[in-house]
Amino acid sequence: MIELLFLLLPVAMAYGWFMGRNSIKQKDQSIKQDLSIKYSTGLNYLLSNQKDKAIDSLLEALKVEDDSVEAHFAMANLFRKRGELDRALKVHEHLVRHGNLPTKDKQQAVFELGKDFLSAGLYDRAEKMFSKLLKSDDYSLKSFTYLLQIFQSTKDWQQGINYRKSIIKLNDKRLLHTLANFYCEQATTAFEQDHFIEVIELLEQALKLDPNSCRANWLMAKIYENHKQCELACQCYQDIYQQDREFFPDVIDKMQQCYLELGAEDEFFKFIKKVYDETANSSALIAYISYVEKKHGNKKAKEFMLSALKRRPTIMGFQHFVKMQMSNADELDNNTSLDLIKELISEYLKVKHRYSCRSCGFNSSTHYWSCPSCHEWEQLKPFIGLEGE
Ligand SMILES: [Zn+2]
Repeated sequence: MIELLFLLLPVAMAYGWFMGRNSIKQKDQSIKQDLSIKYSTGLNYLLSNQKDKAIDSLLEALKVEDDSVEAHFAMANLFRKRGELDRALKVHEHLVRHGNLPTKDKQQAVFELGKDFLSAGLYDRAEKMFSKLLKSDDYSLKSFTYLLQIFQSTKDWQQGINYRKSIIKLNDKRLLHTLANFYCEQATTAFEQDHFIEVIELLEQALKLDPNSCRANWLMAKIYENHKQCELACQCYQDIYQQDREFFPDVIDKMQQCYLELGAEDEFFKFIKKVYDETANSSALIAYISYVEKKHGNKKAKEFMLSALKRRPTIMGFQHFVKMQMSNADELDNNTSLDLIKELISEYLKVKHRYSCRSCGFNSSTHYWSCPSCHEWEQLKPFIGLEGE
């Protein structure tokens, strides 16, 4: 209420000045007096907390040639912020219908109206508004962003893909990344039906739009694996490491299986050693330690593990170290204690979330390609640090 008054008082004052300056022309003056009355009436209604009557009165007073358009936008945005969507809609609709509004203001009104409809969950109407602005210099990028947001909510991936050409023209990384994920969604459906060629084609499209989409390579590796094309799957896993090192720990096990199928486990360990040297992440360390154990024995493996943990302690690494100690239980009489420690760590890690969204900080034990909180794509990655990788 108070904010509205602050917003509208300058409008009334500006109008008063405007009135005084043009007092020579009698006809104009009578119109302006009429407008002045409407503003005063509007303010009176606001003071007596009759917002709807106030809006009607102020909308009637709206004139294109005065400075009140900005005030109307501000008033409507304030209503939207306060959750009073019906009032925001009324003001924006009035501005859209206004015949003499300059193009810039008209486009802003259409855009704001689209946002109102989106906030109200009226997707089809919001879509209509944003579609009107796709050729606008000022609003095309923002409108495409909202349109893709709508198609993401309605899971209408094809609708988004239909705008592919225009989005490529805009060459905006975020939009291309989103659209690549629309292709990945379609590829996931084709994957579930085991349509090999369709999956590969869709994922190739995704990678064309966003060469950094590790999701596309992840799904491609899966379908190659299912079709016993392990060499290609291994290449996809290597590409994932190049694309996103933070996500990579999640594919280490699968990658090892593929190399095993090819009878090329040594090659895998060579690669994973490189990963460990470059990232020091726990999953790579644990994968590599089994190789050290096999090649150089348990003692050397434990020494390696201990020095690695001293350099960079993680709970996951410590859990594996306890497991290694237990395998040597004959030499130690404390197998029961170690078992208890291992169980404790295991329980502790179970209640900890494995993933965190790099965009909004949302934590989850399950992996999602689209963050349930901020809806950004491919932002949920394993935790890094003492309790993570
Ligand atoms: Zn998020």
